[in-house]
Amino acid sequence: MTTSSNTGRRPVIVQKYGGSSLASAKHIHNVAARIQARKDDGVDVIVVVSAMGDSTDDLIALSDAVTHGQTPDAREMDTLLSTGELVSSTLMAMALKSDGYDAISLSGIQAGIKTDMVHGSARIADIKTDRIRKELDKGRIVIVAGFQGLAESGDITTLGRGGSDTTAVALAVAAEAERCEIYTDVDGIYTTDPRLTDKARKLAEIGFQEMLEMAVLGAKMNPRSIELGAVYDMPVYVASSFSYEPGTLIHGGEHTMEVRKAVTGIAVDRNVGKITVRGVIDRPGVAAGLLQPLADAGVSVDVIVQNASSDGTTDFTFTVAQASVDKAAQVLGSDSDVEYSEVVTGSDLAKVSIVGTGMENAPGYAAKMFSTLSEVGVNIDMITTSEIRITTIIEKDQLQKAVQALHDAFELEKTE
Ligand code: ASP
Ligand code: MG
Repeated sequence: MTTSSNTGRRPVIVQKYGGSSLASAKHIHNVAARIQARKDDGVDVIVVVSAMGDSTDDLIALSDAVTHGQTPDAREMDTLLSTGELVSSTLMAMALKSDGYDAISLSGIQAGIKTDMVHGSARIADIKTDRIRKELDKGRIVIVAGFQGLAESGDITTLGRGGSDTTAVALAVAAEAERCEIYTDVDGIYTTDPRLTDKARKLAEIGFQEMLEMAVLGAKMNPRSIELGAVYDMPVYVASSFSYEPGTLIHGGEHTMEVRKAVTGIAVDRNVGKITVRGVIDRPGVAAGLLQPLADAGVSVDVIVQNASSDGTTDFTFTVAQASVDKAAQVLGSDSDVEYSEVVTGSDLAKVSIVGTGMENAPGYAAKMFSTLSEVGVNIDMITTSEIRITTIIEKDQLQKAVQALHDAFELEKTE
């Protein structure tokens, strides 16, 4: 990504507001007041907006209706969906101007956002910030329609559902912003899902890598935007647009306040199914032979375990999204050349992970996790680890008990 030079100018802040924060004229007015307050801080403000409320879903429903449920033309679909963000960006600029603040809305094209040609899930290739810079230099607040860009073909593209987060972080990088602020209907990142324990605590800060591991937690942030923040070291602040409570800063620097804590949070996934392939002949190529057909069928596989072989055969177990269990079993039956004796499926499982960069090179966390789970009678079905995460697969109806015990054992309710 090319960046423009921002020497000798006011600091730039990028703010992004999600659809639920822009659901009505009243919401837009509330957000406009927050933008004005930021502008009054003496910074240059670039605002990225999502489409109002559920309007993207409404446009998708309309496209289904006119095509009798057939897949709509990809080019037309992207142009259609891009209109949702045009509505919110133009209304926001009007709201700001009516309050006496100079503002201008820019579509993705006008904002210089260039993408590849993959309709429906385009990736940002480059952002030419000249126009944005020119408007900021006039003292204007710049409102950019999120989620969209222009492909080399001259056609409008969209970045995939939830893509406005990615627009915001990419713009922050390109415009050399101090940070990217994402305002949404959740008020930050928590140590774990607050629905599972009332001891869940909002984190003041979290590292990018930890955040990527925690993302399934319902922070509702697009992981692509976190990856982008990590690659370009752009701090991302997540907070509520409905209050002035402090949120969570996601950043790549050293932890300051919570440096002594090895475990930062507990990530959960309630949507886990399992496939076990028994009696697989143990020879090179069988793992690929089982998994490639699944990849080709668009089934993504998460945790994979292969047992040590006995009698020249082995068992493979892996997890997939609960809804993909039947499809995965069917693909293995019809599309895989690998010989095996049987496929067994399991469902109603959950994934629980303890996450924290502080666990790196510090043994003992796995043992503590497993003994904590055994003390409360939770059986572990599968285990997998990465440098900053220890993951277990357990039965879904034991999830709450497991999370509460782990949250206590790792003292996550305390700030140090
Ligand atoms: N409006 C788009 C969506 O609903 C993009 C976004 O909200 O970030 O997916
Ligand atoms: Mg949205």
